[in-house]
Amino acid sequence: MNAKELKEQLEYKNKSAFESISEDELERSFAYAESYKLFLDSSKTEREAVRYAVEMAERNGYAEYRLGDELSEGGKYYYNNRGKQLILFRIGEEPLEKGAYIMAAHIDSPRLDLKQNPLYEDSGFGLFKTHYYGGIKKYQWTTVPLALHGVVIRDNGSRVDICIGEEEDEPIFYISDLLPHLAKDQMTKSLAEGITGEGLNIIVGSEPYREEETSGAIKLNLLRILNEKYGMREEDFISAELTAVPAMRARDIGLDRSLIAGYGHDDRVCAYSEITALFDTENTTKTVFAVLADKEEIGSDGVTGMQSEIFGDILWEVCEAKNANYRVVKANSKCLSADVNAAFDPNYPEVLEKRNASYANCGVVLSKFTGSRGKSGTSDATSEFTAYVRNLLNKNGVVWQMAELGKVDQGGGGTVAKFLANMNIDTIDVGVPVISMHAPYEAISKLDLYMTYRAFCAFIA
Ligand code: MN
Ligand code: MN
Repeated sequence: MNAKELKEQLEYKNKSAFESISEDELERSFAYAESYKLFLDSSKTEREAVRYAVEMAERNGYAEYRLGDELSEGGKYYYNNRGKQLILFRIGEEPLEKGAYIMAAHIDSPRLDLKQNPLYEDSGFGLFKTHYYGGIKKYQWTTVPLALHGVVIRDNGSRVDICIGEEEDEPIFYISDLLPHLAKDQMTKSLAEGITGEGLNIIVGSEPYREEETSGAIKLNLLRILNEKYGMREEDFISAELTAVPAMRARDIGLDRSLIAGYGHDDRVCAYSEITALFDTENTTKTVFAVLADKEEIGSDGVTGMQSEIFGDILWEVCEAKNANYRVVKANSKCLSADVNAAFDPNYPEVLEKRNASYANCGVVLSKFTGSRGKSGTSDATSEFTAYVRNLLNKNGVVWQMAELGKVDQGGGGTVAKFLANMNIDTIDVGVPVISMHAPYEAISKLDLYMTYRAFCAFIA
């Protein structure tokens, strides 16, 4: 055998999905990307993602399930947890004690939440105070067009949905930055300190209420507009979830249109591939769950986060309906924790270890572990389960790669994987490599998106 043949037989190497994909599949993957972009543009908050996913679920024959409802074999259900987390599931004929198949992604993304008392006036402007949500590089959020999304619950419980800044003819919102001419001091600061959290104040307007001389007339005029449009009073901000997100729409990148720029690929790219895989694989006997979790970016705590007991409660209810032992079911279940990874970026090779990084277009990326430093804060999948997933993807012709997030001791990050694994469910991370993760405008490859979808299809089919 010559060296080239031997190499091909023995060596492991990442391969670009472009090498093996057929013209047909390439076309399908680009078409799939178009539908993904629609989802992304309509799902800039977890509430909007839930709404979109519920509509899709209902079109695909899923019915709303409330705790305590009867469940039946062959049934397709969704549990809408407070409009912020969604658990879709279908109950297969296969004995549940052989295990359920679980996919878990998150639908919250880094952004700027308004404070509970946000509106003020200063030096001729009306502004909103913000409190950033998730890990952001603050300097990236100035001088980009922002849209305001969210919900206001008035004290009588009535609700107003707000979305301003997505349509071309709507206004946007804006955070200022210093002109370079006067930035001598600012420019000597570190990137972490150049823009502060308390400096991320959003310009909302500048026109005063002109009926008579009064102080705070700009703020008053903004309150007047909010009252006319939404029936709001200032106290209503107290029980609102209003958030500023990038107003940009998802768009193709490059002459070849092979990549997509968009806000919130992390982790709506996995959320979308997960639920479309669920809807596209109908003829299976497995019991399958697709979780779209909230709060991952701030630690997965709370009633709608992955650490909430709600997922276990629903799994328990399904076990009861199928007459299966909950503990046995968990022990035999399998989970793909679906979240993004850092794609190798030629502009920043120094933080990524090139032999163990993920690469755009090299397919869905598996991560045996996440965490930071000495593998702290991760569930670290077993070899056995890693082999199972690797085999599954190979068998189904899904292009995949294995990676960890950056160089050892360079930083790190976590996902929801450990919360599923802590339930005694075998779990591994899979997802899409992302360029500029957590930036207002992130980038992914269309083929990686498609291979992630294919990986979920293979897992639950
Ligand atoms: Mn994520
Ligand atoms: Mn993230």
